[in-house]
This record gives sequence, structure tokens and C-alpha cells, in this order.
Amino acid sequence: MELCRLGIAETRALIDKGEVSPGEVLASVLGRIDAVEDRVRAYVTVTRERAGEMARESRGGPLSGIPIAVKDNMCTKGTPTTCSSKILENFVPPYESTVTSRLLEAGYVLPGKTNLDEFAMGSSTENSGFFPTSNPWDLERIPGGSSGGSAAAVAADECIAALGSDTGGSIRQPAALCGVVGLKPTYGRVSRYGLIAFASSFDQIGPITKTVKDAAALMNVIAGHDPLDSTSAPVEVPDFTAALSGDIKGMKIGVPKEYFIEGMDPEVESTVREAIKALEGLGAKVLDVTLPHTDYSVAAYYILATSEASSNLARYDGVKYGLRARAKELLQMYTETRAGGFGAEVKRRIMLGTFALSSGYYDAYYLNAQKVRTLIKQDFDEAFKKVDVIATPTTPEAAFKKGEKTGDPLKMYLSDIFTNSVNLAGVPAISIPCGFTGGGLPVGLQIIGRHFDEENVLKVADAYERATDWHKKRPKL
Ligand code: GLN
Repeated sequence: MELCRLGIAETRALIDKGEVSPGEVLASVLGRIDAVEDRVRAYVTVTRERAGEMARESRGGPLSGIPIAVKDNMCTKGTPTTCSSKILENFVPPYESTVTSRLLEAGYVLPGKTNLDEFAMGSSTENSGFFPTSNPWDLERIPGGSSGGSAAAVAADECIAALGSDTGGSIRQPAALCGVVGLKPTYGRVSRYGLIAFASSFDQIGPITKTVKDAAALMNVIAGHDPLDSTSAPVEVPDFTAALSGDIKGMKIGVPKEYFIEGMDPEVESTVREAIKALEGLGAKVLDVTLPHTDYSVAAYYILATSEASSNLARYDGVKYGLRARAKELLQMYTETRAGGFGAEVKRRIMLGTFALSSGYYDAYYLNAQKVRTLIKQDFDEAFKKVDVIATPTTPEAAFKKGEKTGDPLKMYLSDIFTNSVNLAGVPAISIPCGFTGGGLPVGLQIIGRHFDEENVLKVADAYERATDWHKKRPKL
């Protein structure tokens, strides 16, 4: 068995028993990167040297010697952090994000920074300012996005685990399309200090892993209040791995009819319905629930997320960070920096958000979208009076072909139809592998929980994983 194929728990056990060294684990991961990366292209930067030093120095700590890839929108001191944007191509952060500080304390090894849709805006990683990433299950297809690099790296065994960020689905959707596990924690559960902001009332960092157990293990390291992020919640952090009892007898699982819609791929629907039946077989009670405002979630999300993005991205003016266009006067320098530094999707969103926030349209768009957001949150509050978790498909279809949706942004936005509501409400949700289409593409099951109840989400996901083999399947590369 090649070491790069292992997850955190198994690697940990081998290192602790002294059967392998962190250097051997890293060599296996780097060897795998050498073998497949020219086809997958999951990484923007492979940090070979730094990784070697980290592996040599690693001792103690729950992640010591474990290679964990980090999405390239989280600041790593001294290591380039590009957000897959030309405007930050040469940006080397002078500080460390809180999540990577915590990984460092836990002894991790950084194999590299992974590709994403520029500023995390997209569902296919085709919006990267540098190059697209391929889905390891079918290189002609997209890996999902925006954390497509992290999900592809995990699926292709180019790391042991990874971090992603999720604003409207960017951890769960690529995890589903690449056949791996992805958890978006509750808003406020994980510090965003040092995460390059896209839409601040949505953005959350979370694990992308080979097993549910590994997701829990990473949560134990990254979760918890951070004085450097005023939106991180001062809520006690449980031992997430302790929640994985395997026993879900009597738990109530809600299935919302709004998540099984016309136009979705029937193979995805039947695969997810099978998975829900399997949960029932494990002793859970499956109940119908309704989330009546689901229809408005994509529209509300794209108004609010673009509004916040238009404000957050105002800071890239050629003065403070990254790219600066050469120009004779100041205004020209600003406009040319932004015109040349941002890609088409980022510009589209800045314009859309600026429009939605403009004085004449604020009430019609931004304010209404905020009201819809409250209704969607109330839908979840109501449903969670009846059930412990909610089960849905993660995506309406499996991985699509490269180029299939790049010409039609609205079609691309609909990829998030089952994930956006979760970010609007701020609740936690996981995507786990639950089968394949006839064409051999992975399908994801989404499990959504109450605010700060990652434990039940992980418990149900883990029980399903124990009873099935889907998470063990790997693409042939
Ligand atoms: N695909 C969604 C978007 O384009 C979500 C992105 C994300 O979660 N970062 O906005």
C-alpha cells in the first residue's frame, strides 16, 4: 500500500508506532504529485522544500508529519498565497492565517497550496486565473469548485487531507464531484483570520478528507474561538471524534421535497434516495420536512454574496498588495490594475454587487435578499424542531464536462442549488460519497445539521460510511 493513499488516522497510527517516518510519508505524497500532477493540476504551488523542513522538524501534535494541502486563499507566512488571481500572483503574506497557525501547532506538513476559482468565485475551478484543475475520475471533467484543487488533490492521493473554504458550496460541491468528504462547519465555528475574504457573512473554512473520521480529527484542530476574528463564536468546542459512535438508532432524519426537483439527474436522485434508505436501515427514522423558501436561495445568495464581494475586493487597488499597473496618474493606475488583474467572473460579480448596493436599487435587491435570507433561516429552524439532521443530494448532477457551463454564468450558478441555503442559514453540512452514476462519476449525499451541531452531522455521516464502501473507491489515474 502506498502511503499517499492513506488518510490521517491510518498515517497517524503508522507514524506513532514508528513503522514509517514523516519523511517517508512526504516522499510518497511528493512522488504521487510527480506522477499525476501534470494531468490533475490540483496545486498552484508545490512547497517541496518547506514541506521537507516541516517533515524533519515535526514531532508531537495530533497532525505531526501529516501532509495537508491548503486552498490558496488562506494566508501562509512566507509562502505565496494567490487566490488563483493575477492580482495576487506575487503576494507573499507577512502573516499566518489562524487555521494554518493551528495546523502548524499540531505539527502538519504543507505539501502545497491548491487551485481554486479566482477569489473562490465559481463551481468548476475553471475561473482560476492560472489554469483549470481536472477531475481525477475523468480528466475531461471539472472537479467542482471553488475548492476544486483541494478536492482533486485528496481524491488523487496527492495529499493525506486538505482544507477548503465554503461560501455557497465550495467545500461540499467539489467533495461530492470528486468522491471525497467535505464539511462546511457552522458560521463562526472556525476562524477566518487570514482567509482572503469573498463574502464575509458566508465564508467558512473546513476539512476535505478521505473519511468522516479524518474530517472530525481536523475539526478538533481548527475549530474554536479566535480573538483575531470577531465573527468567530465563543462556543465550546467538543471532541468531534468522540461523537462518532456508529449508532444512529432512533435519530430523526428529515428529507425535504424541495431538494428533489425536476431537471436534476435521475441517477443522482436514485443514488441519494438509496443512501437515505440505508440510513433508515441503520435504525434512523426518516421523515418528510419542508424548506419552502428553497426556490429563492440561489437568487438571494448571488445578490448578497456579490454585494459583499464588491466591497471586500475594493482593497485591490494596486497600492497595498500584489499587482500594480504602470500608469502616468493615480486613477489610471487603479483602473488598469483592476482591469488587468481581475478575471471576467470577478469583474462580473463586482459590477453585480455594486449595482445591487447602489442607492436606487438597494431596497429592491439587497434588502429583499436579506429578508429572504431570514425566511430561509426560519425554514431550517422550523424543520429542526422535528428532526435532528436533514439529508439531501449535494448537487443536482455529477461532474460536468469542462467548458460546458463557462459560457452561461446562470447555468453555472445553478450548480449551487442544493448548497447555497446552508450558507444563507449559517448551519453546518457535510457531503459524503454515496455511490456512482452509470458513467462512473461520484455522487454526494449532503447531511445538514443545527447551528453548532457538527457532532450529529458527523455521527450520521460516519455511521453511513461504516456501513458502505464508497469512500474506499479511488480513481484510476
Ligand atoms: N459556487 C459558488 C459561487 O460561485 C460558491 C463559491 C464558494 O462557496 N466559495 O459563489
